[in-house]
Amino acid sequence: MHIPGLLTLASRLARTLLPPVCQVCAEPGEQDRELCAACCLALPWHTDACARCAAPLPDDATALCFRCEESPPLLDAAWAGFRYEDPISGLMLRYKFHEDLAAGRLLAQLMVLSPPPWDAVPLVAVPLHPSRLRRRGYDQAAQLARQLGLPCWQGLHRVRATLPQSERSADARRHNLDGAFAVRGDVPESVVLVDDVMTTGSTLHACAEALRNAGCQDVRAWVCARVP
Ligand SMILES: [Zn+2]
Ligand SMILES: [Zn+2]
Repeated sequence: MHIPGLLTLASRLARTLLPPVCQVCAEPGEQDRELCAACCLALPWHTDACARCAAPLPDDATALCFRCEESPPLLDAAWAGFRYEDPISGLMLRYKFHEDLAAGRLLAQLMVLSPPPWDAVPLVAVPLHPSRLRRRGYDQAAQLARQLGLPCWQGLHRVRATLPQSERSADARRHNLDGAFAVRGDVPESVVLVDDVMTTGSTLHACAEALRNAGCQDVRAWVCARVP
């Protein structure tokens, strides 16, 4: 067996034999999760959010933020279990940029703990371009989607490599994604996009546009965390 295979086997064995340890504070984990009860309680749970874009809402607000009231976005609904704050943001950086797959596994478990209030099937992960996937070695959104344990649809593809969205203005983000996504095969009537973080939503909106142009009637998004 080659080294990565051995390492995977070793980490699987360790997970079965050793009790889980909190990835945030190193205390014993709770319910087979690598998170302790205190850290779980202190997570930045995202309550009071806009039903269409998952942006935070003031306490006394209705279901939609004023932006979505004025011009409805391409997403029929958006759901984020958490705000992009510590320790979610720290786990996310470890998962995305330091190949910490255990952090990704925990983030998927936390998404399952805070599911959207609607049926989330089939899931469609926001795809990476094949060239980026080759460089990174794994696709963070696809892995999250797989670990949610629901049926996934594989027909959405990134057909144009784009520059990283972070550090670009909202306007530049939108144009950066023109024609970046394409749909292959018969599109389901409704789908739920899955991604790790939603910032301005431009990536999700570009996916939603491609899916709608292909005939999809209802496009929702389920992300782990929303940047407030
Ligand atoms: Zn802890
Ligand atoms: Zn909104």
